[in-house]
Parts: sequence; structure tokens; C-alpha cells
Amino acid sequence: LTYAAAPDRYERIPYRRTGRSGLDLPAFSFGLWQKFGTDYPLHTQREIILHAFDLGITHFDNADRYGPPHRAAQQNFGRVLAKDLAPYRDELILSTKAGNAIGPSPYLRGGSRKSLLTSLEHSLRDLGTDYVDIFYHHVPDPGTPLEETVGALVSAVEQGKALYIGISNYLPDRTQEAVELLRAAGVPLLIHQSRYSIYDRRPEQNGLLEAASAEGFGVIAYSPLAQGLLTDKYLETIPVGARAVNSTFLSPEVIDDTYRQRTAALNKLAEARGQSLAQLALQWVLRRPEVTSALIGASSTAQLDHNLAAVTFPDLTTEELALIDEHGVH
Ligand code: NDP
Repeated sequence: LTYAAAPDRYERIPYRRTGRSGLDLPAFSFGLWQKFGTDYPLHTQREIILHAFDLGITHFDNADRYGPPHRAAQQNFGRVLAKDLAPYRDELILSTKAGNAIGPSPYLRGGSRKSLLTSLEHSLRDLGTDYVDIFYHHVPDPGTPLEETVGALVSAVEQGKALYIGISNYLPDRTQEAVELLRAAGVPLLIHQSRYSIYDRRPEQNGLLEAASAEGFGVIAYSPLAQGLLTDKYLETIPVGARAVNSTFLSPEVIDDTYRQRTAALNKLAEARGQSLAQLALQWVLRRPEVTSALIGASSTAQLDHNLAAVTFPDLTTEELALIDEHGVH
């Protein structure tokens, strides 16, 4: 069946400016970290990706590492791009990342010029595209001079293989150094990809959000639902097929009494607002102007519909934010 994108796709969610760049991103971006490998049917993946695009999600986040096996998620995305989304390539913001270990070779990890530029070449082949919109260094590599890492990122832009540069998981000090090196090279840092949620507030505690606003880069918040912990799904039980049972990245051991108490309190607050905890948690992340986009995952189109409805509710009040602090901080 030929795919035709929903004509009203740009009326569904807001678009937000990324720092002081010229690039708008959708308030929700979609990541293919989990359940987009070979372990999950391609037709379901295709359905979710196309539904996301129909809902106005123009930004899809990949990495050489995502699978299983590594590279499979972006290869699957490449299949959907070739079959369905190719006519819309100009409307898509595709990202990939390199530098998080994907094999035993010293050139399949880290921040060397060799690792980053060969990974990007390979990712372009996986995705079936000539360029990515955003190329990230995935994790800081203290063993490699930042000049070399930044030099490789700048080369990717100069070679036309990436339009913008991002960094991920860098702490504020190294972020600042990267900002300065990139600026000096004429390729300003577009965006920082950082974990941020009611249950992980480091970006607002360690100064990253302030740095974003001062230096003019955007922040894209990954795992804003804490991988599903900030939904009501684990309050009573651990549902079959949920990430806490089928992924090594979310251990069922975190779902203990303390977790249930905190989460039940937040859930009650969401209910009082007439919304779900997932919707409240997404609104919470997007309340900060430094946050350009909430980078979500989903294992069904229903989760996407549900989560994006977060933008239809009134802003969180000061009183509600204080209550969230009371329950959400460890
Ligand atoms: P989320 O916190 O949004 O978690 C998404 C998962 O929560 C879904 O896959 C689903 O899992 C569950 N879920 C979502 N909505 C609902 C709902 N309404 N009700 C119940 N369960 C729900 O984000 P992710 O942890 O998936 O991360 C998103 C993206 O961020 C990744 O794909 C990746 O692109 C990026 N990322 C980047 C990292 C980095 O180092 N730069 C690290 C981690 C992520 P299920 O149904 O399977 O239980």
C-alpha cells in the first residue's frame, strides 16, 4: 500500500526553536532505541514510524548502537524511509550518533576521528540517505583530545554528511569546551541530548540547562518517561511485554515499594488534573524553555496518541510543580 502522509500533520503539535539556531524541532521527537531491532516485527515498526510522522513528529533519532543487533534500528528505519518516507526526506530531521561502543575493535568506540567518521559513513548506508540532519557524539571520551573529536564532527558538516552537530551525555564542563571549539570552527553546537525527567533532574541541578540558555544550544530530553516508569503501567503489576521485563536497560528490581509510593502520588496528582501520569511527565519536561523537544519511545501507535495529547492540557501551576518536587525527588 502506498503511504501518503496525513495532510493535517503540522496542526497536531507545536514546533520549538532549537536554542539560537534557525532549526525548529517538534515538541516530541521519536527515538528507535528499543523494540526497533530484529526482535520486533518490521510491520509494527513501520506502523509506529509512519503514525509518528502523521502526528507531526518530523524528528527521528537513531544511533549506530541501536538494535539488537547494533545498527539494526537504523537499517529498519532505512527500509521505511526507502519504501514510504523518501518523498518526505526534506521534511525529516534524521539524527544518528557514534562513539558508544558497538564492538571489540578500538575503532568501534570512543571519540577518535577514525571511529566517528567511519561510523557516520556506515550509518548513512544503513539509513539509505546522503546526509543526516544531526550527527552526535554519543558519550564523552575523556581519553581522546576534545579537539580531535570536535574536528571530526566539523569535518562531517564540511563534507556535507551532516547539517548540524550534537553531543550527548556530556557534563557541563566538557560541554562548555565543546561549545567553544565548535564555535571557533564556525559550526555552533546545535543541541545536547541528555536524560531528563521528573525522576532524573541532573540537567537542572548541574547547570546544563543554564549553559544551554547562555550559549544558545538546545536540549533534547531523552527518556522523559524514565523508560515507562513515569506512567501508570507498573503501579499494580509488571505487564507482559513491557520494557521492565524484556530489556536489560530497565531492571524489574527498580519497581519496589518506594517506587510504587512515589509514582502513585504523582499519578494521583495527574488524575486530579484529568490527565495521565505519562502526560503530566511530558508536560513537566517541556515546561522548561531550554528543552526543545521531548525524545520519546513507544511500542504502539496508541502510546503515541496518548502521549502527544499531553500538549492539550493547561500548564502546570506553581503549586502543582511544588507537589511534583515533593514526590519526584529522591
Ligand atoms: P521514554 O522515557 O519515553 O520511554 C518510552 C517507553 O515507555 C516506551 O517504549 C514504552 O515501553 C513505554 N511507554 C511509553 N508511553 C507509554 C504509555 N502511555 N503507557 C505505558 N507505557 C508507555 O523514552 P526512551 O527511554 O524510550 O528513550 C527515548 C529515546 O531517547 C530513545 O529511543 C533514544 O533515541 C534516546 N535515548 C538516548 C540515549 C543517549 O545516550 N543519548 C539513551 C537512551 C535513550 P514499553 O511499552 O516497551 O514498556
